[in-house]
Amino acid sequence: MDHLVERNLAQIRDRIANAAIRAGRNPRDVTLVAVTKTQPLSSVMAALRAGQIDFGENRVQEAVTKFAPLRTGLQQPLRLHIIGGLQTNKARDAARIAEVIETLDRPRLADALVAAIDKEGRTPELLVQVNVGDEPQKSGVPRTQADPFIEDCKSRFGPALRGLMCIPPEGADPGPHFAWLAECAARHGLLELSMGMSADFETAIAYGATCVRIGTAIFGERDPLLRLHRANRLQSG
Ligand SMILES: *Cc1c(COP(=O)(O)O)cnc(C)c1O
Repeated sequence: MDHLVERNLAQIRDRIANAAIRAGRNPRDVTLVAVTKTQPLSSVMAALRAGQIDFGENRVQEAVTKFAPLRTGLQQPLRLHIIGGLQTNKARDAARIAEVIETLDRPRLADALVAAIDKEGRTPELLVQVNVGDEPQKSGVPRTQADPFIEDCKSRFGPALRGLMCIPPEGADPGPHFAWLAECAARHGLLELSMGMSADFETAIAYGATCVRIGTAIFGERDPLLRLHRANRLQSG
């Protein structure tokens, strides 16, 4: 599986570079976050060996279990991004382990992070997640509340507040959502835009993404049943 991860990573890096160049941008201004949620440690190791630096996990507990032991004695840079909805009681663990928390989305969580940063003596970079599709099941501050919430976070966190993150609704054209997020970030003078996943990262780069979060296209299907199903099909076909 190692060589597959390595090959996929190389292909994704190429596609990112080409998308950036097509958009008249510098490929170095787009960071690839390899999303390892539910993936085994062996996949993380394979990506590390292939020179990957930024990793994304959506659950703090899983991030701690997987990455805390791995960091001990590691000879290369590693940056961990928390990209899933964050519970206030996990704020302290997140502040301890993450280089970037991408899912700041409500005043109560901002309160918890202020306290966590103070206790840990360590300040991760922060992104405000916006629920661009106003979907009830998704985390993120609603569009209509984004401006005041971002201003509030700017005054609380200062330069640690780097930018915005979004996950557009599935099945919809992501372009207008990416455009909205880019405009919102510009309005607030924020430079980082975390948007784009396996299916739409090239579009996101065209709209100014500085950070793309990619899982499936690097590590394959997350769902073990789907993986098994594919393997069986391969064997019988
Ligand atoms: C899982 C996840 C991704 C990666 O999705 P893929 O489609 O596997 O690339 C990106 N961002 C977030 C917030 C995720 O939860």
